[in-house]
Amino acid sequence: MDVVEVAEGRTRFLVPRQDPHLQFPPGSGPVFYNSRMEMNRDATILLLSVLRPESYLDAMGASGVRGLRVAHEVGIPVTINDRSETAVDLARRNADALGLAVEVTRKDANALMSERRFDTVDLDPFGTPAPFVDAAARSAARHLFVTATDTAPLCGAHLKAGMRRYFSRPRNTEYHAEVGLRTLLGFVAREVIKYDRGFEPLFCYAHEHFHRLHLRIRYGAAAADRTLARIGYVMQCPDCLYRSEMTGMLPEPGRCPICGADLVPVGPLWTGRINDDTTLAAMQEALPGITAGTGTRIGRLLATCRQELDTSSHYDYHVVAKRLRLSPAGIESVIGRLQALGYQASRAHYSGTAIKTDAPLPVLEEVISGG
Ligand code: SAM
Repeated sequence: MDVVEVAEGRTRFLVPRQDPHLQFPPGSGPVFYNSRMEMNRDATILLLSVLRPESYLDAMGASGVRGLRVAHEVGIPVTINDRSETAVDLARRNADALGLAVEVTRKDANALMSERRFDTVDLDPFGTPAPFVDAAARSAARHLFVTATDTAPLCGAHLKAGMRRYFSRPRNTEYHAEVGLRTLLGFVAREVIKYDRGFEPLFCYAHEHFHRLHLRIRYGAAAADRTLARIGYVMQCPDCLYRSEMTGMLPEPGRCPICGADLVPVGPLWTGRINDDTTLAAMQEALPGITAGTGTRIGRLLATCRQELDTSSHYDYHVVAKRLRLSPAGIESVIGRLQALGYQASRAHYSGTAIKTDAPLPVLEEVISGG
């Protein structure tokens, strides 16, 4: 294998040489490496430096970059696993070059997670994590981290694939990235609660082509019930931008109070908060102390997440303005005017044009119209 040395954070490691013009995408090399996921990994390093678990499983390690960085930069016991012999050989070579005493195993991730428990379990598969969440829910003693890159099924663009994988009916709305994140959270919740466990989201976000969950596991039937209570639906009007949200297992049929159309249930999905403010604050404080190539972007993401409202959908204010056939004022002035009217309003990390608010849609429209 033709390898090349690269660096992320404070860690140097070997990866297969890739075509500079990316004729061969990252997944097509003998061992996977995607430099565009550096921010995802930087955020993991930052969060683990706050949480400091006693053991960490990188269940799908490939070159081992994630686990190697955790061992080298956070200094906690790490197991790197992959089912590919080539990947495991490269991960071992990388660990030796760094002088790291990490455990490297070659197993099917589901088999390993069924046999052993780890304080923190991290899933980073190709595409969907759905086939691995059940075993991960049993293996993770304190934290479960999940990456999903199958954004089209999660966001409703590939509806049938989304229904098969997540047993949910997403919908391709202007808040599709949020639907994707909440659909994934809802799926993981259903996989965890059957074991009389629950979770609290610590830091969950959608970015470019991936969704990322960081969850704290809680034990007992009461914790599972609290998690179950967060499952619900966004009830979306198919004809206008009206939507409402509800919790509960069964969506209640209803009509759009603005245009009278039958509301369409989007879900089941996770409703309510997706972050823990204390954890985000601790991450902000720890950020200057770590070496992260994407530190500035992570800093901005943390700041946006901290002020983001807990509503389960957001408006794209450009979409609202387009329906009103006008060009909108700046986003900060729209948010400021909503707040001046006594409503809660914030940006959302999903996009630069996303607004979260508890104001009814007609009020938002009036504000965007300059009223
Ligand atoms: N975590 C890596 C990183 O940050 O660069 C990327 C992992 S890559 C997206 C997915 C890896 O999962 C591949 O190396 C593949 O060999 C491995 N894999 C796929 N199915 C697996 C399974 N059932 N058990 C263990 N590893 C698996």
